[in-house]
Amino acid sequence: MAVVVMKFGGTSVADVERIKNVARHVKREADAGNKVAVVVSAMAGATNQLVGWVNEAAPLHDKREYDAVVASGEQVTAGLTAIVLQSMGVKARSWQGWQIPIETNTAHGSARIAGIPGDDLRRSMDAGEVAVITGFQGIEPKARRIATLGRGGSDTSAVAVAVALKADVCDIYTDVDGIYTTDPRIVPKARRLSKVSYEEMLEMASSGSKVLQTRSVELAMVHQVRTRVLSSFTKPEDMAPVGAAPLESVGTIVCGEDEIMETQVVSGIAYARDEAKITMLK
Ligand code: ADP
Ligand code: ASP
Ligand code: MG
Repeated sequence: MAVVVMKFGGTSVADVERIKNVARHVKREADAGNKVAVVVSAMAGATNQLVGWVNEAAPLHDKREYDAVVASGEQVTAGLTAIVLQSMGVKARSWQGWQIPIETNTAHGSARIAGIPGDDLRRSMDAGEVAVITGFQGIEPKARRIATLGRGGSDTSAVAVAVALKADVCDIYTDVDGIYTTDPRIVPKARRLSKVSYEEMLEMASSGSKVLQTRSVELAMVHQVRTRVLSSFTKPEDMAPVGAAPLESVGTIVCGEDEIMETQVVSGIAYARDEAKITMLK
């Protein structure tokens, strides 16, 4: 039996139909006897809308209230995912950041995770319940205020939960079937990598490749979490549960350099849309 963390991003939970698809992936793992924690993002576009409302309310605002608003998207998807799983006969319950608790520092808007006690979470999972956890959010324990982890932060929530649970793998399900040499939506000829080292992925993420939030890669590297990127749009029944097939048979694994035999000088190219270069000549 493996302990598996499965994270689903915004496009994977964009509507109830897609949440049903996510639940089928989760059921596959639970039916195979794996212990499963699911981490969900808000529905695609939901966080942008919430951020928009905050800025419309007041361009200069209290970051703690920003967090109270933008953390709400994940609450919806966690509850819906638990409901769908229950309707499929899978024992499941939702967990919000403060309930676990996922403890953060005071840097509201881009808080860092300080620790995850998680005793109740472990007890619930030991009793056979799938844990459906809100990504992106936690609680700042001193003031007991909700805090969010920065845009794309559900990846970091997933890796942190994997560390807390000593998970065998942290599977990041998204809308592409792995990590490519560059963004496959922009360069159709980009090649999927079967393995990439933490160091290489850190460099790609910090220079703009948003497939994984930079902090999630840092955390995975420090704690040596086997992190895999794969597509939620692959049919759930076409994939083998963790433990029944080698992890490398699907997606891309982010792992230690020592596991990668053939190292390349250049592994990938990243880009950032919101940066410009101006050269002044005199
Ligand atoms: P999610 O909502 O699941 O978190 P994101 O939109 O944050 O998904 O990240 C997935 C996207 O990352 C892909 O749709 C792709 O356009 C983009 N991307 C950028 N660089 C890469 C890369 N090197 N490999 C794969 N995807 C990449
Ligand atoms: N919902 C949050 C965002 O859009 C977190 C995430 O999706 O990872 O940034
Ligand atoms: Mg993302």
